[in-house]
Amino acid sequence: MDFRSDTVTQPTQTMRQAMANAPVGDDVYGDDPTVNELETWAAERHGFESALFTTSGTQANLLGLMAHCERGDEYLCGQQAHNYKYEAGGAAVLGSIQPQPIENNPDGTLDFGKLAAAIKPDDSHFARTRLLSLENTINGKVLPLTYLAKAREFCDENKLSLHLDGARAYNAAVALDVDIKEIAKHFDSMTVCLSKGLCAPIGSILMGSKDFITKARRLRKMVGGGMRQAGILAAAGKLALTEQVTQLETDHANAKLLAIKLSELPGVHINPDFVQTNIVFAKLDAQIDIHGIAKKLSNDGIIISPGNPIRFVTHKDVSESDINFLVEKLKLYLS
Ligand SMILES: *Cc1c(COP(=O)(O)O)cnc(C)c1O
Repeated sequence: MDFRSDTVTQPTQTMRQAMANAPVGDDVYGDDPTVNELETWAAERHGFESALFTTSGTQANLLGLMAHCERGDEYLCGQQAHNYKYEAGGAAVLGSIQPQPIENNPDGTLDFGKLAAAIKPDDSHFARTRLLSLENTINGKVLPLTYLAKAREFCDENKLSLHLDGARAYNAAVALDVDIKEIAKHFDSMTVCLSKGLCAPIGSILMGSKDFITKARRLRKMVGGGMRQAGILAAAGKLALTEQVTQLETDHANAKLLAIKLSELPGVHINPDFVQTNIVFAKLDAQIDIHGIAKKLSNDGIIISPGNPIRFVTHKDVSESDINFLVEKLKLYLS
């Protein structure tokens, strides 16, 4: 029972079958029918002209940022943004793109006043501000659709492009009970992780205009992301975006259940009303030895990421009874 992340999900039986049977070719030559099918289908499905299959979400974000921005350009993002904080500074290191982070509001949004103040004037002292990058969900929180519409307006007014790190965009769509297009339509480009709660073994998708994806495809080759018989992976990716989406409803219900049960434990502080998707954060009283507890839990076959706040992630491979078992053990070790 692994509560560290939804990245630990095992591919489904139908994915393994589809992978075994996928027609493949050399995708660097554009010859892999399964990759081509996924890219064409994904672009259509999300309302973009074009799509690109990538090795990871990190690579999809990097290619997106580099396709939008030249050396010496700047992108606006959240202080907590994955593509600022958790991607080894790739945009700066490999793209010479300057990040301009803005403190995230508690709901994950970025304040438009602060964003406007951070846009640099057209002056040789400054980097050129080109892009706003948002993330949805961000730390499990869903950005409201009205906020996305305002972000689009803000970018149009300020001649910025708008990118979405949508690693968990399907969690947002499921939580809002809207079609993914209702989120995607506000953005010039968007990524989706196939390998998180959607259970594919490997891969993400980057989507945008035809010219944007052509540029990203060259950059993907440059960073070593050109893959050969990648249809074996794309076959699972297609099932991630079709068969696995409804699984996220169960994941969200399980996260809510976990939050409610955690809120009843001594020394654990969490408001279950704030849990919107599959990620649960709880604050622990300072005297709790969570590293010691994590060791005991591992003897029970439960893996957690110790920390304070502590983060639990629900996914296909943890069931309601696994959650009950986790809470029972936690109760024992906390008392
Ligand atoms: C996981 C994640 C990524 C990166 O995906 P990898 O496939 O792990 O490289 C990017 N953005 C967000 C919000 C993520 O959660």
